[in-house]
Amino acid sequence: MKPDCIFCKIVAGKIPAEKVLENKGYIVIKDANPKVPGHLLVIPKKHYNSFLDMPHRKYEDFFQTVKDAIGTFSGDFNLIINNGKTAGQVIEHLHAHILPRKLEDGFKLNC
Ligand code: AMP
Ligand code: ZN
Repeated sequence: MKPDCIFCKIVAGKIPAEKVLENKGYIVIKDANPKVPGHLLVIPKKHYNSFLDMPHRKYEDFFQTVKDAIGTFSGDFNLIINNGKTAGQVIEHLHAHILPRKLEDGFKLNC
């Protein structure tokens, strides 16, 4: 656990969050400021600053958890990982955004 990391505190139960899923290594929570309805965050329990800091042997469990989270709703989605301040990462604890999409939901992806 990294002191002063919001997501480490959520993992430790020190800050409340709306948990959708949990397994040995990950939690999936609802984003507190959803960009679209149902916006989810997949968060490793262990602190990694960004995707590059996670060892590749963890990828299978990480992306399986992402798939399990996507399985909690139906329809299309965007899967986004911001890495570094310039790329829009505000919380420096690796997390994947899952954005369920609906026609004309107003969300614009810049790529
Ligand atoms: P990023 O810009 O990729 O670092 O995204 C951080 C995300 O965490 C944003 O979408 C925030 O709305 C979300 N967030 C910040 N604090 C909390 C919190 N306490 N519980 C749930 N989501 C949060
Ligand atoms: Zn952390």
